[in-house]
This record gives sequence, structure tokens and C-alpha cells, in this order.
Amino acid sequence: MSCSATLTKLIEATGAKPLNVSSTALNNISIGIQTDTRLIKPGEVFVALRGEKFDGHKFVSMAIEFGAIAAIVDFEYENQGLPVLQVKNTLTAYQNIARWWRDSLDIPVIGVTGSVGKTTTKELIAAVLATQGKVHKTYANFNNEIGVPKTLLEVGKEHDFAVIEMAMRGMGQIADLTHIARPTIGVITNVGTAHIELLGSEEAIAQAKCELLAEMPTDGVAILNHDNPLLMEVAAKVWQGEVITYGLSGGDIQGSLIDNHTIEVAGIQLPLPLAGRHNATNYLAALAVAKVLDISFTSLQSGVEVNMPSGRSQQFMLPNDVVILDETYNAAPEAMLAALNLLAETPGRRHIAVLGAMKELGERSHQLHQRVGEMVKNLNLDALMVLIDGQDAETIVKSAEGIPSECFTCHTEMVTRLKSYVQAGDRLLFKAAHSVGLEKVVNQLRAEC
Ligand code: ATP
Repeated sequence: MSCSATLTKLIEATGAKPLNVSSTALNNISIGIQTDTRLIKPGEVFVALRGEKFDGHKFVSMAIEFGAIAAIVDFEYENQGLPVLQVKNTLTAYQNIARWWRDSLDIPVIGVTGSVGKTTTKELIAAVLATQGKVHKTYANFNNEIGVPKTLLEVGKEHDFAVIEMAMRGMGQIADLTHIARPTIGVITNVGTAHIELLGSEEAIAQAKCELLAEMPTDGVAILNHDNPLLMEVAAKVWQGEVITYGLSGGDIQGSLIDNHTIEVAGIQLPLPLAGRHNATNYLAALAVAKVLDISFTSLQSGVEVNMPSGRSQQFMLPNDVVILDETYNAAPEAMLAALNLLAETPGRRHIAVLGAMKELGERSHQLHQRVGEMVKNLNLDALMVLIDGQDAETIVKSAEGIPSECFTCHTEMVTRLKSYVQAGDRLLFKAAHSVGLEKVVNQLRAEC
């Protein structure tokens, strides 16, 4: 079950003007709020959103035909005698309904933001909470001004917890999302350099992420990554409420890695749901949430099950025990470094980094690509193969001086070389900004090996 409300309640929440709605129909109960006519169910209310490529107002009559009890539309809409609730801005109305609905829910709502690791941390928190009750969480990439209200509106009275991922591409956006979700627990995974071109500096990124705390109800709890000094510094300026910190180097919930599969926290050994140091840190954030909600760590000793959404990091095997770490969907600088570490830590014969440039890094681009090359060198990887599409990719190769490197300017050339180069037992990481198209190389290798 999701958001249910009488039309009168929706009018109250949005300040709408009803047109062609009889006084008895005002008491009709909407069984859900839908923005997509392809998914509409009889008894729901349709919200006509205007986007760059679509305009929901074109589908109002179709929504009513499919059984919607009313449509929420804006002032420019020709209503043709259909039952509509007219508002100034349909997105604002959608968000106001979500805010009202969220306020009617008396359950822990966990908001998650950060430069990298949002989705993973959200999934880990949801997995931990699922051991205690029914969880609703953000699906796919519904983490923006439309996705957050959508996720909240899907929370039903049967749910015990909601875990809401919040993403941003500029100042003020996390504040807006926090106003809607009103988290009782706010988690910030880290502050890094992802999309730094948009905000200009790491300090500005830290401020933007910390809007989650600045706008959180004062009786909420902030959960912060102790290993990220800039985050800790900026958070302290905007948040005076309760804080629980976590990390591998310190914090209230401090973890020590026993091996690739086990972490020790507060004297208790726990299986790690996902491999890699960065994912151990993400799991500590989930354990910090558990601590706030009085969930004992011993109850997690048998492990939690995480199913990461498809289309993100994937691991698969080619014949002859060749393992591919496929991270071709995205590459933030911190994620690039974490993935290189993961490659180096993965037991295998040779460790090969197949990389391309990272994007949206503005003035910091050169320096951040240099750091990637240096990391390849410090980890002493066996080989570096780079798809060159400009100076940044070349910088990776130059900074990895001493590591056997090869450069390619086209995908097929790279595939041909990899097919002859790769040997049994090799481990390969593929990572670059999505626009580099490294997934074409991975797909071709999978098809031809
Ligand atoms: P996006 O904004 O691209 O959706 P996200 O913040 O949701 O990203 P995830 O999808 O969880 O992040 O992870 C993206 C990549 O970042 C992963 O493939 C992984 O390599 C890396 N990563 C995840 N967690 C961390 C972390 N704590 N520190 C550094 N890198 C991380």
C-alpha cells in the first residue's frame, strides 16, 4: 500500500483549486499518487509533471480514462470538463503531498547522501534493517526532486523503515530534498571531488552535502564518516545535534578489517556483505544506523544479504579463471582510487587496470588524473591499458611511469590486444566515465572470449 488520502486532504496539502469535482467526490480516497500514465491504477490520482522532453498534461484525459479519480494540473491546462485539482506548479504539489504523507508516517526515515557510495550505503542500511522489519528504499536512481517524493509516496503503513537516497547537482538541492523527507537519521558517506566542475571546490561540495544536516529536524541523529576530515569539519559548523561517527581509522563505530571478508567492530566479528575497503566503510555507516536504532551487532553475525542494483559495479568471470571488475558505468575520482585498491586486493595472477578518463572535474582534472596514475604505480599493478580520448587519459599513463602501459584510440583495437594479452588467472578492472564507452570493450570481450 502507498500514500492514500481523500481529495480534500490532497487539496489541503497542495492548496489546489478543484474543478469538476463534486462535493461527494471530495471524500473519495486516492489509493496512490502516480506520475506515469503507463503505470496508473484505477483509484489513483495522476500528477501531470512538465519535463524537458515530456509533458504529463498531454496524458490527463488518458489517466482519467484508465481510472484515475482526478488529475493534478497547472494553471495552463485546458481541463475539458475533467476532474482536476489545479495548482501553480505540479512538481511543487507532488513534493507537498510527499511531505504531508511523510509527516503522517511514524517510522525511522534514514536519508543518505555523499559524493560516492550513496547507493551502496543505502542498500547496506536497508539490508541491516531488513533483519528487523519491513523496509522501503529508493529504487533505481529515484534520488532527485521527483524520485525522492516518489519513494516517500510508496512507503506504506506496513513499512517499519524507509531508506531514502538523495543526490544533487548543485547547491540547495539536498536542502530541498531534506525538507521533503525529514529524515530522523542523516548519513553522509563522504565528501569528494565527484562533479567538482559544478560546485568549484571540495569545501562547496561539503557544504552542499551538509545541507542534509542543516535542514534535518533538531532531534535527528547525524551519521558521519570519521575518515573524511573535511566532512567532519563542515558538519560541525552546521549541526549541533547528536552525532555518531564511523570509520576504519577511528570514530564511535570503528571497524578493523580482519581480512577481505570479515570486519571486527566493538569486539564482534561480522561478515562483510561486499568486498573492498570502501565497502567496509560503507558497512560501518549501516552499523552506525543499527546502533542508533538499538539493533545488536550480534544479531548480524550470520550476515546480511545485499543485492546491488544491476547496471552498476559488476564482477564476472571469463573462461580460464579470468575475473573482470566492470565499473564502466561511472568514475568519480574517489571511486576510481577505491576500485584500483579493490583490484590490487583481489587474489589472482596478474592485476591489470583498463582505464579511461574521468569527467566533470574542471580545473582539478589534471591533478586528479595524475593521482590515478600515481596510484597505479604505488599499487605496482602488472599492466595499465588506457583508452585515450584526450589529455586527461594521457596524464594517467604518464603518471604511472614504470608500469607497463599501452594506449589505444579505438575500442576494437583495445579488444584485439586484450584478447591476446590476457592469460589464465588474470584480474582486470575496467573503469572510466560512462561517456568513454569502455563498456563496449567489456561487452565485446564477454561475447568473444
Ligand atoms: P552515483 O552518484 O554515481 O549513483 P553513488 O554515490 O550512488 O554513485 P555507488 O553507486 O554506491 O555510489 O558507488 C559508485 C562507485 O563508487 C562504486 O563502484 C565504488 O567503486 C565506489 N565507492 C562506493 N563507495 C565508496 C566509498 N565509500 N569510497 C570510495 N569509493 C566508493
